[in-house]
Amino acid sequence: MHKKINHQEIEAKWQKQWANSAIYHTTENPDKPKTFVLDMFPYPSGEGLHVGHPKGYIATDIYSRFKRMTGHEVLHPMGWDAFGLPAENYAIKNKVHPRVAVEKNVARFKEQLGVLGFDYDWDREINTTDPAYYKWTQWIFLQLFKKGLAYESYEPINWCPGCQTGLANEDLESDGTCERCGSVVEKRPMRQWVLKIREYADRMLDDLDMLEWPEHIKEAQRNWIGRSKGAEIDFKLFSPRTSDVLGENEEIGEVTVFTTRPDTLYGATYLVLAPEHPFIENEIEKIENRKEVDDYIAKAKQKNEQDRLDATKEKTGVKLEGVTAINPGSGEEIPVYIADYVLASYGTGAIMAVPAHDERDFEFATKFGVEIKQVVAPFIKADGEDSPRDGLETLERPCIDIIIEHPNNGTFLIQKEKDGDRNLIHFVGGGVDGEDDMTAVTRELLEKTGFSEFEFMSNKPVFTTKSIGYRHSKNKNQQGVSNFYHIKLTGLGQVRSEIEDGKHTVEWLTREEITKQITWAWHARSWAALNGEMVSTNLGVLVNSGEFDGMNSEEAKKAIVEKVGGRMTNTYKIRDWVFSRQRYWGEPIPIVHCEKCGPVAVPEDQLPITLPEVERYEPAGDGQSPLSTIPDWVNTTCPQCGEAGKRETNTMPQWAGSSWYYLRYMDPKNDRELVSKEREKYWAPVDIYVGGDHAVRHLIYARFWHKFLYDIGVVSTVEPFQRLEFLGFILAEDGRKMSKRWGNVINPDDIVALVGADSLRVYEMFMGPFENTIAWSKDGLAGACRFLERVNGLSAHLTDNESESVQRQLHKTIRKVVEDIESFKFNTAVSAMMIFINEAEKNGLSQKTFEQFLQILAPFAPHLTEELWQELGHSNSIHLESFPVADEELAKDTTVEIGVQINGKLRGSIEVAPDAPESTVTDMAKGNSVIAKYLDQAEIKKVVYVPGRILNFIIN
Ligand SMILES: [Zn+2]
Ligand SMILES: [Zn+2]
Repeated sequence: MHKKINHQEIEAKWQKQWANSAIYHTTENPDKPKTFVLDMFPYPSGEGLHVGHPKGYIATDIYSRFKRMTGHEVLHPMGWDAFGLPAENYAIKNKVHPRVAVEKNVARFKEQLGVLGFDYDWDREINTTDPAYYKWTQWIFLQLFKKGLAYESYEPINWCPGCQTGLANEDLESDGTCERCGSVVEKRPMRQWVLKIREYADRMLDDLDMLEWPEHIKEAQRNWIGRSKGAEIDFKLFSPRTSDVLGENEEIGEVTVFTTRPDTLYGATYLVLAPEHPFIENEIEKIENRKEVDDYIAKAKQKNEQDRLDATKEKTGVKLEGVTAINPGSGEEIPVYIADYVLASYGTGAIMAVPAHDERDFEFATKFGVEIKQVVAPFIKADGEDSPRDGLETLERPCIDIIIEHPNNGTFLIQKEKDGDRNLIHFVGGGVDGEDDMTAVTRELLEKTGFSEFEFMSNKPVFTTKSIGYRHSKNKNQQGVSNFYHIKLTGLGQVRSEIEDGKHTVEWLTREEITKQITWAWHARSWAALNGEMVSTNLGVLVNSGEFDGMNSEEAKKAIVEKVGGRMTNTYKIRDWVFSRQRYWGEPIPIVHCEKCGPVAVPEDQLPITLPEVERYEPAGDGQSPLSTIPDWVNTTCPQCGEAGKRETNTMPQWAGSSWYYLRYMDPKNDRELVSKEREKYWAPVDIYVGGDHAVRHLIYARFWHKFLYDIGVVSTVEPFQRLEFLGFILAEDGRKMSKRWGNVINPDDIVALVGADSLRVYEMFMGPFENTIAWSKDGLAGACRFLERVNGLSAHLTDNESESVQRQLHKTIRKVVEDIESFKFNTAVSAMMIFINEAEKNGLSQKTFEQFLQILAPFAPHLTEELWQELGHSNSIHLESFPVADEELAKDTTVEIGVQINGKLRGSIEVAPDAPESTVTDMAKGNSVIAKYLDQAEIKKVVYVPGRILNFIIN
């Protein structure tokens, strides 16, 4: 029965009552287990909340209410991430202090959250712009500074001309524009504070394994950190210009390269330095084409990183005339280039280029005519009927294969043989027996085809593979390194050969025909190489690598590095964190610059260094923050020597305050410590963290700071957030993002006024899987309202004679809701409760059952359930009740659905008791009309039954 809900009245009433009786007040209770439930705290923008924002907050509210009802002490706080550019831009435009705008926005957000009935303990509210809070953000910076993890750098950084500030790499979109304003970001050398986040890269990577996070977020973190295992190898540089009397070149320096593939060292046919590489600046007079090099460097400076790495752009570079390098593996002299596809910031800013095994190097080498030398033969296992067979002898020998081109019509000769009804097509070839490759090619050609007049198109193989496969003609497996040579016949005269012996036939085919028909995998791969696919990035077996020939890549990596005196090491994509901003609305960096002492830490007892009042919030435009325009504030004394000093005028980035805020909720009013040991021990870590976005930035920064705080003994866990649930967004009804621009924003206040907070809450949880992004739907909302109205009308169905089926349904529902809340599957929890309502309306329910149902619904619809609970005669709050426990006996399924397969294909399903014997299940399946059709006339050869899951008939 539907019964209208007077939501406006009851929601206001209970919200007031909960606040007055402080039922959500959090304490540290050592007798109870704890749960720390955390939302990514909002930036209080001037636009207020739209209905998409509360989705995560509703989920955490349900989760924390549920935990509280199962006997946990729950910390579920809320606060404000309020420093940053939007408030500052608003201040510039409207000439109000950012603090005033933030206060107004926070008040609005709190009001909006308030009407949704959340269980926050507002005594623990924090605000990152509150000096009592940012005192500790500054304190953390000082500890980083004292440990040498915060340093001043003059390296070129990302500069946003729109925002007039330096930015970290994390602040850029993937196309290199500013995430805030969309401007194209430039590189500018300027003094910056930088944090050594790279020192924590390994720990941040390795500890990901212990976290219960969605795999795609972990993967995003791994990619951002971007660890590559590899080696540093030193190349000596020489100048032929200054060769001595004996013709020996003069050694003019050494360049260290980083490579992930030291096994390919012998294939390094040139060296590339980044345009920023210090060798060029230091040794410019040794370079003969100085002007050309200088011009190229100037051009490279104009390009951003994304452009330089763009694989679709043509590679550019300049050869350094008058400089050569020696490959320390092969001892060969190789040219040296500068090219902007190498970045100064990656590895060592120099690479050994191996065009046969790297796409970018290949492209460059082809354009500049540098030698391409294959040194790793990919290991290729034949597939299908040609794959090696168990239990057979394996013939091991080196081979040559011959790609034979017709003298004048562009076709190629292949060998054809029959294997049963299969046509095998491959190139002519055979084993090399104590002879050189050239002799073997000449001999095999004659034996197999009778041709003898030809020329080598190159004296090097087109491609080399290591292969293993089954040879039908020999009934043996065959394994070996194959060199593929390209020859062209010069005459068509033929002598008697194996063709006449009837061993095989040969045929002239076009390129297209060969590509289509070629049988063996390694022949197909080599044919592709002849047709342009030269580059092989796979590991394999070394060739053309002197003493290392025949060694596999993994072994060879170490052996080669050892031989040439290199060092195994890692490199990372992540850059150190550019931590200063030339803006007003951020935490002042607590440093005093002294001419004598350099940068000096402000004594901790002087914290917080508060933001001074300024006339104008605009950036000075000269790369200085507006703080630099206030001499009274800037001029101070050096804490170390007492002479005149100047305060640091840069402020911290908007990510600073959010990198540790979760800790402050544990102990928000502590003015002696960031967090007390006892409270941190009780609450840490955050048990469940919920939010969308920020897969990289915030989570990278917070994990870095947390690990640092662990190292200095402030926190007791190595990771801040044990479990992470990723939130899918809510789109507008038109499927677009909600935005003022589209005029499609739905305001939660309007929805609450219309249908009540409980309906909004139930709807947002029911609309689909939590992690999915889903469009808002009026119909869906109406469905949630109807459900709650039916709950409101349930008392009309109370009975003293409750049927067993209602009992069973209740306990099944309890079990389902418990499982679903734990695993953040709120949509299926709601649908289970809807199923229960159907059953209860149909068959009636006892007061006890009604009460238990209200208890499981309470976290979802806190107001309505509290009202009905009181109507049933209770004076305490339902939210302080214990969550019902399912009776497993009653919750047990009385029937299960079994899939029925015919020859492994699913054809239908039947309902049976979970413990039904196989004979019963088989009979029921045969009796099912759909299945019977398939079984009709057929002979059942076998029946396979997996109890409770699947039944499979094998028929003729
Ligand atoms: Zn910008
Ligand atoms: Zn000093």
